[in-house]
Amino acid sequence: MSRQLCWFRNDLRVQDNSALIQALNAGETVGIYIATPQQWQMHDDAPIKIDFWRRNLEVLQNELAKLQVPLLFFQVKDYQEIPALIEKIIEQYSIAGVHYNIEYPLNERRRDAAVEKVCDKHKVKAVAYEDQCLLPPDLVFTKQGQPFKVFTPYARASRELLETAGSVSAYGLEPDSLSQEKPALATLDIACKLNDIDWPEEQGNWAKRWPAGEQHANRQLRHFVEHSIADYQEDRDKPALEGTSSLSPYLCSGIISVRACWEAAVSAGSNASIRTWCNELLWRDFYKYVMHHFPHVCMHQAWNDKYDNVPWRHDEQEFERWTQGETGFPLIDAAMQQLLQTGWMHNRLRMLVAMFLSKNLLIDWRWGERWFMQNLIDGDFAANNGGWQWSASTGTDAAPYFRIFNPVRQSERFDPEGEFIRQYVPILANESAKTIHDPGKLQAEYFEALVDLKFSRERALAAFKKQ
Ligand SMILES: Cc1cc2nc3c(=O)[nH]c(=O)nc-3n(C[C@H](O)[C@H](O)[C@H](O)COP(=O)(O)OP(=O)(O)OC[C@H]3O[C@@H](n4cnc5c(N)ncnc54)[C@H](O)[C@@H]3O)c2cc1C
Repeated sequence: MSRQLCWFRNDLRVQDNSALIQALNAGETVGIYIATPQQWQMHDDAPIKIDFWRRNLEVLQNELAKLQVPLLFFQVKDYQEIPALIEKIIEQYSIAGVHYNIEYPLNERRRDAAVEKVCDKHKVKAVAYEDQCLLPPDLVFTKQGQPFKVFTPYARASRELLETAGSVSAYGLEPDSLSQEKPALATLDIACKLNDIDWPEEQGNWAKRWPAGEQHANRQLRHFVEHSIADYQEDRDKPALEGTSSLSPYLCSGIISVRACWEAAVSAGSNASIRTWCNELLWRDFYKYVMHHFPHVCMHQAWNDKYDNVPWRHDEQEFERWTQGETGFPLIDAAMQQLLQTGWMHNRLRMLVAMFLSKNLLIDWRWGERWFMQNLIDGDFAANNGGWQWSASTGTDAAPYFRIFNPVRQSERFDPEGEFIRQYVPILANESAKTIHDPGKLQAEYFEALVDLKFSRERALAAFKKQ
């Protein structure tokens, strides 16, 4: 058998990892991880997410060692330097095959195309696997053979395909025998130790709040399916409850496979709550699908070019107050504090703050998209871009521009007692459920409301109507 390379990127797990399984089936396997600190900066990857990678790589290295697969670390500046590095690795280790799971954004696809060329030059087989989604993006089309632009028919078609297959693993791969003899490798002096990589400094409670490792992710999935999925339909919009799975950081970095999530949910039954949660997994697929079929969204462009010329305001002071949770609207501020303090934000609140920024403040949604990426542990280009373009009404199947959330009504509806607000904005701890939602009713001294809701709503409607 010939020596194979498994190149780990955002699939930091052993279980149900298509590239790893295929590499092991093809021959003696060596794992590699290539850190690219300047690329991380260019892509606005958040320090909390990069630190999460570091902690998960440590676990992955141990898990792979049990299978006798060494995991080697390398560091280069950015994607440009990767093909030359792969070339050196191929030569040094006499590699016959390179295996990796596909990433859909444009820069990653260009990087992989350059690596394939290098492999071709050396007559090494480079194999890319569809692993990140329940269904490969090139499998789901309209009856006319076009990519879907609207989520509901896309989801219906996907479900049909998944049901016909009987099991999502039909589109993934079953692990064969995963162990091997440990390869004897000459040291490669360009490899480094995990700790030699320029990781961001670990802070506060990151590791406690977001433990690393696939075992943890699996436990969290099991716990969610056993205790919370039945009430998901009811609880998922209430940020004060733990009504959602909090699995997004694990899905985003590939610590758990989306197939494992789907299978766990489906085997728990088929009521409305379970279907709703599975739909969220399909939303995740959908935004990767959009990125694959409409790559212009990777280049800071609105999906819908009708909205290319919205007169966005570029007010830095207002933006700064939004980022720091100082808008004067308690639920918006609590949400922004949740992001700053935990690196994560509840979905209902992501929609709310994104709409507030892009509609009430009429600030360019790309500023908000970037701030999210710079701070989220689950920052995912496709889901984040999709969520922002949905909220700003510029995306596929987006919220219509005239449907603007009212942050006070949303607060009364989804955090009726004000518990979530009190947790993240302690200065409002003594407000009653009646006074806590509305800047005009607050008893405590607090930030003045950044905008008048009626005025700002009309300003947004006028700006969008002109397009
Ligand atoms: C403006 C905005 C930005 C967002 N940015 C991101 C992001 O960077 N990364 C990210 O993973 N999600 C993003 N989302 C989607 C969603 O908010 C998060 O996936 C969700 O809050 C994660 O919490 P959970 O794991 O408890 O989700 P659950 O409700 O338990 O859902 C299960 C999984 O389904 C997926 N999912 C759920 N909702 C969505 C959705 N609307 N779009 C795509 N996938 C979804 C996630 O992988 C999630 O972990 C964004 C949404 C908005 C409105």
